[in-house]
Amino acid sequence: MSTEKLDRLVVLGSKGGPAVRPGGPWPSSSLVEIGGRNIVVDCGLGVTRGLVDAGMSLKALDLIFITHLHSDHLLELGPLIHTAWTAGLATPVTVYGPSGTHDHWLHFCRAMEFDIEIRIVDEGRPDIRELVSVKEFGEGTILAEGGLTVTALRVDHPPVIDCFALRFEHGGRSVVFSADTAFFPPLADFAKGADVLVHEAMLEEGLERLVARTGNGARLKEHLFASHSLAEEAGHIASDAGVKRLVLNHLIPADDPAIGEADWVAAARKSWAGDLTIARDGLVVELSGQKAASGEETA
Ligand SMILES: [Zn+2]
Ligand SMILES: [Zn+2]
Repeated sequence: MSTEKLDRLVVLGSKGGPAVRPGGPWPSSSLVEIGGRNIVVDCGLGVTRGLVDAGMSLKALDLIFITHLHSDHLLELGPLIHTAWTAGLATPVTVYGPSGTHDHWLHFCRAMEFDIEIRIVDEGRPDIRELVSVKEFGEGTILAEGGLTVTALRVDHPPVIDCFALRFEHGGRSVVFSADTAFFPPLADFAKGADVLVHEAMLEEGLERLVARTGNGARLKEHLFASHSLAEEAGHIASDAGVKRLVLNHLIPADDPAIGEADWVAAARKSWAGDLTIARDGLVVELSGQKAASGEETA
């Protein structure tokens, strides 16, 4: 029997937006284990804890992809790499992100200069600044290495211009992340035939209560409708793409007690009849065509 790890997707943080609330889910981050590679997609707050809880050794940090520079996808990038470094990371890490990612990393290293310098001298660690390379990408193929192919598609997330959906393929398996986007029909071609489409989603009935809670109501609501997709729009993309499974993720609202999984399912079912999973922190989806190990299966 093969001892090779099964390919899988783990959703580490499933909520949309940067806020965290008592007992609630964490902002955006995911782990894709495919073809023996550990791939972190987005680094919202909680990504380090999420990776450890998912069973990944931080020393095995390898590839990181950032879809766009909104804080709910980026805030813990530096802290993740730094924590991995203090945990004994000694192998190269490559960070792929849109324009501005390199500056972000340099500024993080500057902010942590005292600690970095002292640990190199005091603990004999390698220089973290030499372990990490940052590669900024645009549309198209951004990585093709050892059977792993990663491609990017610019999506519609105003006012952010550099926001990219990502497609990961290896050995005939594929996972696509929509990133943050308003309803964007070209995503269906980009996600064509994928095993799993992880698509962001909002639920209309929860938005009124959400904007009332957060205080800057009208502006926030305007942003949400211009820049994000409703669950039924995610279903449309999944149907047009003919994917095997749709995972609704980056949920807005994510922690409204009046909204449960059944509400998300009902909204997606207006436009999607295939396999459906509503993300939550720690959700595992096997990429071998089998059922999710610890995910909710919904008819
Ligand atoms: Zn977001
Ligand atoms: Zn965003």
